[in-house]
Amino acid sequence: MSPDSAARHLPYGVFSVGGGDPRVGVAVGDRVLDLSVALMDPLFARPSLNPFLAAGPAIWERTAQQVGAVLADESTAASSMHPVADVALHMPIEVADYVDFYSGLEHATNAGRILRPGQEPLKKNWRELPVAYHGRSGTVVLSGTDVVRPRGQVPTTGRPELAPTGRLDVEVEMAFVVGVPSRLGEPVPVEDFAKHVFGMLILLDWSARDIQAFEYEPLGPFLGKSFATTISPWVVPYAALVAAAADGPPQEPAPLPYLDHPQPRGYDIELELVINGQVVSRPRFVTQYWSAAQQMAHLTVNGATLRTGDLCASGTVSSFDVASQGSLLELSLNGTQPLTLADGTQRGYLEDGDEVRVSASAPAAGGGRVEFGDAVGRILPARTLKIMAKRQV
Ligand code: CA
Repeated sequence: MSPDSAARHLPYGVFSVGGGDPRVGVAVGDRVLDLSVALMDPLFARPSLNPFLAAGPAIWERTAQQVGAVLADESTAASSMHPVADVALHMPIEVADYVDFYSGLEHATNAGRILRPGQEPLKKNWRELPVAYHGRSGTVVLSGTDVVRPRGQVPTTGRPELAPTGRLDVEVEMAFVVGVPSRLGEPVPVEDFAKHVFGMLILLDWSARDIQAFEYEPLGPFLGKSFATTISPWVVPYAALVAAAADGPPQEPAPLPYLDHPQPRGYDIELELVINGQVVSRPRFVTQYWSAAQQMAHLTVNGATLRTGDLCASGTVSSFDVASQGSLLELSLNGTQPLTLADGTQRGYLEDGDEVRVSASAPAAGGGRVEFGDAVGRILPARTLKIMAKRQV
């Protein structure tokens, strides 16, 4: 493998050393290459990847070549390297708009069967367009940030009550990150995907199932999702995923022409969901029904813009096979068939103190794996509400 093709595999992130200013780096094994020093370019002396992402594909390609040249000379590279263990990682992007798609056929079918038994699991729109909702970009957090158990209106046999969720779940997802913006009113076709979209990362879509169940009709998720969404610190460029291209599921009926995306439209990315140190499932991204390019084309077909830093989640990566399911809703059949963890305790949904970790990797050109790293979150107990504290005095 030539040095610059190896450099195309490297994920980009934002880090700081010893309390210094955050800057852009690439992960090289267990080290970080400081691009602001190695390439002497102010584009990388910034606290987010956004300026680099906005610069577009020619700069992304030139940077990969420059990184390859730096890494080819170990003595030069070493002066710009830091052990990952010695750096603080920061949010890689300033998130613009956040969208969560619902593009896993098997997940949507499983969820429909569990939540609406006796009905057709997929709504009439599902095979016609990539269903999605707009989420809350301000609560997208970096891996390692604790997740406080949210409160909300939880259904009871009578009126709902304001209570901490009793059904805290996590959805295993990937997400794409937009680099080059589009113009208002101008749809972006499937074939222009690589002109706008830079890369992918891992995303944990925390979900309060009881709050979600009561609030979502008829407009979709709101507080059941908006309290936190976790992303991994490293963004893997699509250019690194050439060897991971793979056929996705067949699409029946054939989508409308603006959504046409010939095979291979999928990516062979393997994920792993770990709760409290125990692997509970291994979701496979190649099973996703709608591709990221189709999601992007649909998102903009009405003239809505793409912005630098837009984050678009894939939808839960799941399966009919329990070994590859990407949510506790599915793994525990909505809490009715709890999982047994390594310490013998059982989980229908997440408990306070639980740690969720999702990692991902894909085949690399020339052998080996492209590593996405991981996204981690630990559950903290619900906070006491001030209004309740007042009543107690
Ligand atoms: Ca989701």
